[in-house]
Amino acid sequence: MLPPTPAPRSPRVTVVIGGVAGGMSAATRLRRLDEEREIIVIERSSAVSFANCGLPYHVSGVIAERDDLSLQTPDRLAERFRLEVRVRHEAVAIDRAEQTVEVRSLASGQVETLHYDELVLAPGAAPRRPSDVAAGAPLHTLRTLDDLDRIMSRLDEAPAGNAVVIGGGYIGLEMADNLARRGLTTTLVQRGGQLLAALDEEMAAPVADHLAAHGVALRLGRTVHHVAVDHVRLDDGTRLAADLVVAAMGVVPETRLAARAGLAVGPSGGIVVDRSHRTSDPAIFAVGDAVEQRDAVDGSPRLVPLAGLANRHGRAAADAIVGRAASARPALGTAIIDVAGLTVASVGWTERTARERGRTVRVIHSHPLSHAGYYPGASPMSLKLVVDAANDLMLGAQAIGTDGVDKRIDVIATAMGAGMTASSLAELELAYAPQFGQAKDPVNQLGYIAENLAAGTDRVIQWHELDAALAEGAVLLDVRGEAQLDEGRIPGARWLPVERLRAAHTEFAGRRIVVHCRVGQGAHTAARLLDALGHDVVNLDGGFLTWRDGMHARGLARSGQAAEAAAAEAAA
Ligand SMILES: Cc1cc2nc3c(=O)[nH]c(=O)nc-3n(C[C@H](O)[C@H](O)[C@H](O)COP(=O)(O)OP(=O)(O)OC[C@H]3O[C@@H](n4cnc5c(N)ncnc54)[C@H](O)[C@@H]3O)c2cc1C
Repeated sequence: MLPPTPAPRSPRVTVVIGGVAGGMSAATRLRRLDEEREIIVIERSSAVSFANCGLPYHVSGVIAERDDLSLQTPDRLAERFRLEVRVRHEAVAIDRAEQTVEVRSLASGQVETLHYDELVLAPGAAPRRPSDVAAGAPLHTLRTLDDLDRIMSRLDEAPAGNAVVIGGGYIGLEMADNLARRGLTTTLVQRGGQLLAALDEEMAAPVADHLAAHGVALRLGRTVHHVAVDHVRLDDGTRLAADLVVAAMGVVPETRLAARAGLAVGPSGGIVVDRSHRTSDPAIFAVGDAVEQRDAVDGSPRLVPLAGLANRHGRAAADAIVGRAASARPALGTAIIDVAGLTVASVGWTERTARERGRTVRVIHSHPLSHAGYYPGASPMSLKLVVDAANDLMLGAQAIGTDGVDKRIDVIATAMGAGMTASSLAELELAYAPQFGQAKDPVNQLGYIAENLAAGTDRVIQWHELDAALAEGAVLLDVRGEAQLDEGRIPGARWLPVERLRAAHTEFAGRRIVVHCRVGQGAHTAARLLDALGHDVVNLDGGFLTWRDGMHARGLARSGQAAEAAAAEAAA
């Protein structure tokens, strides 16, 4: 007798909710790993796999063709990956006991129930919006191609009008820059005195100047109280004419579906996942902006809405679904933005975060050239490294400039990810030719400074510690060359170039000496000399340039606070 024919095994079904960065990475990776299963992607908007990071650049025409932002279509995904992609469909409920998800067609309103063996949640994050918005107000957010289409048709109606952008984070700055490039009179409103919370204040101050110089009016320290049909009213009563208002006030993870299904949501507000991106239900995975991630520095829960991470999560979830080992790495939050031609990048913690979390830090500012100064086209940049004084490990870094910023932050991010110490940046062997870098690359230079600080060879104070040092009786020596004095002076500083120190140093016997130069390097030489001559000497970290940026930041913060106080008084 023949053995009974086994019943044909029906393929497993994986449903993916959200068809962009994390969701589409999960779906396509899963197909590459498993040809058999059914993969259904549910997407609320009318497009999948679009380039959300490129959306702001279509506003100005830098990305001229709207279709270039659409990386895939449902038809192509069906042909190439055998994915069943349903756009304009919204997942509205999950029944975990039955392993089903209810999906509503936005076109017909019909609701269908889909069975899943595994469910991947990749719903992203929702933009915050102002609370008081009049009916018919031209308020927009930017998250999807549909949002972009609405903004573009509004711009067609008001081609040379007034735009107000609410929020000074990455998307707010990109939108303000691109709206100004398009020719709109653009104002950016930001609560508090600083743009870009991922930076410390002295690093952010030049970004504000740069944006203002490129035609974006800044209203720092202001909040939007009301969005009307043709204007925006600020907390101090100011009215800003507005044909277009873009809310870029940050995002909140899309957790409604998960929370209603009883999945665990963490203290940061994101869906809790384990290292293979499994939620509190083993059949449900979650990826991207919607999930709570682990901070790479201290393992604490945090939200990190960035594209690279969402893609990485999608891949990891697909691996876990087919039984491959997947272990999500914690998030460093490495980010970069172009602001009107200025590149701004950061990784890890700011000095502010490190101090708030009780770390004793060593902070290094430097102002190197992007490549060898003798080769044409070298441009200055500002770097900041935040180091844990307890173990010399890097906590974070920030960089701004017009050239070479991306590679320095990426090298530092790689070194941080590998657990290297700050001093060991000195040992990195980086590609060099004069048009690309320096024989002692700016990253190596940070390592040299870190070594000197760790060894106690150099001692520094920060720009925000200078006033206290002077109040305690320290003398401030400016050791710059004469030609550099035109850039400005620090009040109370005595000019004494390095070459004259040997002759004059006895005047300062018994007093602490703070030395400063333009960027910190000449002052290091001066500090070594004064130390050898028996003085108690510290170097003003980052020199005049960092001090100037710090003072400017304080000015911005003060005017922001004054604006807030005046508004509060007016309201009382
Ligand atoms: C304008 C802009 C610029 C950006 N620039 C950068 C950048 O330069 N660098 C960077 O690293 N990151 C950038 N980001 C962030 C980056 O795009 C996100 O981190 C990334 O897209 C997150 O991927 P995700 O899959 O979690 O969510 P998304 O890519 O947002 O995809 C989620 C999708 O899920 C859909 N969805 C939600 N709920 C449901 C539901 N119930 N049913 C069906 N579908 C649903 C949504 O319609 C959405 O299309 C930018 C974001 C924006 C908006």
